Amino acid sequence: MIVRFWGTRGSLAKPGPTTLRYGGNTSCVEARSADGTLIVLDCGTGAHGLGHRLTTEGAPRCDGHLMITHTHWDHIQGFPFFSPAFVKGNTAAIYGPEGSRGSLQDVLAGQMEFTYFPVALNQLPAAITYHDLTEGDYTIDGVRVATQFLNHPAMTIGYRVEADGVVVVYLVDHEPFSDQLWRASAAPGSIESILHEGDRRHASFMAGADLVIHDAQYTPQEYQSRKTWGHSAYDYVVQVAAAAGVRRLALTHHDPTHDDHFIAELEREARALAQRCGTGLDVFCAYEGCEIVLEGGLPRGATATKPSRQASVAQRTFHVLVVDDQPDMVTLIVRALESDHYTVSTATSGQAALRSIGERMPDIVVLDYKMNGMDGLEVMKTLRAGDLTRLLPVLMLTAMSDEPSTRAGFDAGVTDYVTKPFSIPQLTARVRACLARAQLQ
Ligand SMILES: [Zn+2]
Ligand SMILES: [Zn+2]
Repeated sequence: MIVRFWGTRGSLAKPGPTTLRYGGNTSCVEARSADGTLIVLDCGTGAHGLGHRLTTEGAPRCDGHLMITHTHWDHIQGFPFFSPAFVKGNTAAIYGPEGSRGSLQDVLAGQMEFTYFPVALNQLPAAITYHDLTEGDYTIDGVRVATQFLNHPAMTIGYRVEADGVVVVYLVDHEPFSDQLWRASAAPGSIESILHEGDRRHASFMAGADLVIHDAQYTPQEYQSRKTWGHSAYDYVVQVAAAAGVRRLALTHHDPTHDDHFIAELEREARALAQRCGTGLDVFCAYEGCEIVLEGGLPRGATATKPSRQASVAQRTFHVLVVDDQPDMVTLIVRALESDHYTVSTATSGQAALRSIGERMPDIVVLDYKMNGMDGLEVMKTLRAGDLTRLLPVLMLTAMSDEPSTRAGFDAGVTDYVTKPFSIPQLTARVRACLARAQLQ
């Protein structure tokens, strides 16, 4: 498989003399399997260069699979300038996460409305199909593709692509689930010793990969003031990739304020950290024009033998019960969930929550940890002891990110554990991810 980077910048295109080395175009990566299958990971402004190359130097006909992580601008803005879409006879299958405020097709059409662009999406001559994806395993043109939700203030999926006996994993945009990566009681460095189940699942998703392409927009110092923005610092990425036995790690989604010198220094620090991890992980900062040839080895990765599985959450209305003893917080969460077309009910105490669940079973509970009287943990224990509520998805909200609290939450059976302060888009994305996972079980 050949991997080429056409856009490595995060958030905003940043061309100019200070970004010549690493590039100014936003996210776009080409992955080409030995039989010529074309996979395009994200369609930021880098897709313009890729499209130009395909139409001027490629085969007369172009068939591609465009896998979009999410529909923030820096991941779709190049699509209206992707020239193969303007050629009759070409085909493009576009994939992206379902559960945003519209279908993938609607969102892509939105950025091509007349106000913004002269050609409408449905006027493009190429035959385009749209595929809203959830978390699961897919086979696309003989390529095994697994998807997993990332932690970002929008529905965002990472892709694990397996072809020619190699595994490439693409993980932008994402930030750590927990401030603390390792459990204090375990020796750091293995997937099992990761504290938060979200971070552990993230590590497992990239396990054994030949190449991981990961968001590393920040330094650890910068990340402190940019939490909940949905991006990672390199130290998290390097440690997780090392624990997951990844061979090569490409750091990408470079911050628009980082010039070439800054990124080179970030790369030096990331390499030093990887060396200290001692797993032989090869780390570099991705740059525009970078081309990597991955040679097929033994088939690896647990997903290779998994059957296809998908569960859609787009087709029906879900009922969410929000439990919190702080009225302001309840109002904020309810407003956000109702904008996402959920049916929402509320309870302001643990007892009231259990009563409400007894009367009408919700599809998911958003549960505050610390409440007067019966707290969230006690509610959890009651729910997990009941036959009907044993598997009910529960997303716990808490201001406590310390290890004993996090472990107590997961030990009590929470589906996900979200630390305050969180952003509302981040919370609604986590609700959607929990619902999709619950459908799979
Ligand atoms: Zn981005
Ligand atoms: Zn984003």
